[in-house]
Amino acid sequence: MPSEKDGVMIILSSPSGAGKTTLVKMLSKLDNFEVSISHTTRQPRPNETSNQDYFFVDEKEFNRLIKNEEFLEYAKVFNNFYGTTRTPVIDKLNKEKNVLFDIDWQGTQQIKAKAREDLVSVFVLPPSTAELERRLLSRAQDSAEVVSGRMARAADEMSHYPEYDYIIVNHDLEASIEAVHTILKAERLRISRQAGLTDFMKQLREDSR
Ligand code: 5GP
Repeated sequence: MPSEKDGVMIILSSPSGAGKTTLVKMLSKLDNFEVSISHTTRQPRPNETSNQDYFFVDEKEFNRLIKNEEFLEYAKVFNNFYGTTRTPVIDKLNKEKNVLFDIDWQGTQQIKAKAREDLVSVFVLPPSTAELERRLLSRAQDSAEVVSGRMARAADEMSHYPEYDYIIVNHDLEASIEAVHTILKAERLRISRQAGLTDFMKQLREDSR
């Protein structure tokens, strides 16, 4: 029987407020999913835990990581820098874990250019603009200025949806989790992800002669 190769990298991108962070948190509690923890120069929010939600670093440290070529991808989002370091991702994949990334379209493009075969990208959309605004306001963690900035950027971010493999409209958390599982199941059946397939096919064909 062919067996599956190492874990899959799965990117979830969306405008802030589409419910992606909750989705990622729920998925991370399930077996075989590990979330990639990004570095950022943004200030921590009150409910965020250092080294768990992000590695919070200053620009000097972020620039050092860039210079040492430690990032798999990095980008500037809302005046702050965000980036994914390479080594923890490779370690997780080697342990046959699926690695979940909560990153933007810029990072997605960069990882896609480096590792298209091992990647599945999903764009998460809010059910409506009104719901997006409601979620951003109800978070109440960011200033009004930040919220309106994020609303303005949402349209811009959403314009990148055609660069993704799949779209999930996040009406309902349970249904969205199920959708991510379905996507992964299908991805694991891809010919390119099935190790030993050539030998298995050869045997099948020989045996049927
Ligand atoms: P937030 O500040 O709300 O946590 O995240 C803002 C945006 O930055 C989100 O769209 C999130 O997906 C994106 N982001 C978080 N971490 C990374 C990262 O490591 N790389 C990139 N390219 N984007 C990231």
